[in-house]
Amino acid sequence: MIVLPFNRREKNRIQVVKGDLTKMKVEAIVNAANPSLLGGSGVDGAIHRAAGEELLRECQTLGGCKTGQAKITKGYLLPAKYVIHTVGPIWQGGQNNEAELLEVCYANSIKLAAENNIKTLAFPAISTGAYGYPLKEATAIAFKTITNRLFFYPDDILQKVYLVCFDRLTYQCYLDFWKYY
Ligand code: ADP
Repeated sequence: MIVLPFNRREKNRIQVVKGDLTKMKVEAIVNAANPSLLGGSGVDGAIHRAAGEELLRECQTLGGCKTGQAKITKGYLLPAKYVIHTVGPIWQGGQNNEAELLEVCYANSIKLAAENNIKTLAFPAISTGAYGYPLKEATAIAFKTITNRLFFYPDDILQKVYLVCFDRLTYQCYLDFWKYY
């Protein structure tokens, strides 16, 4: 048996991909939602459009979601069986707990995925679109939090976590980070 050092084992479970989250054939995708959970712009809108109206109906029963929290629904017409909705922080200059809140978004999403025995999970770059979080700082938080949290779960629960980059800039930033991580 090859025992990989801490971080290598977790890093091997993460994969950076360029593409559309709504097309991912994984057990669960994470939605960068807003507190109403009733849909919005960016990836949130794309998920609701692809999943169909039943997703909105289930979301209406959830009573919203606070920043940093995560809630799970079915995926309906999506290839993914589940959607984990989390609300990232709005960037306000960095002095309003933004980093901690973004970290708990990733941590709570992973926790909820593990509780539901999800083996394959895909994240968007939470908060880096309409919510304005600086890309490099957000990327560092995504990698750090995901590797740290995966350490606590055996490989057979969360086998693979995909980081899905929609645009070239995000993809390049994630790849650069991945190389030196
Ligand atoms: P937030 O409000 O949390 O900033 P956005 O949806 O505005 O969320 O942006 C978060 C990231 O999701 C951005 O990098 C944006 O380019 C990306 N994104 C938008 N649509 C998709 C999609 N269909 N698949 C994957 N990522 C997407």
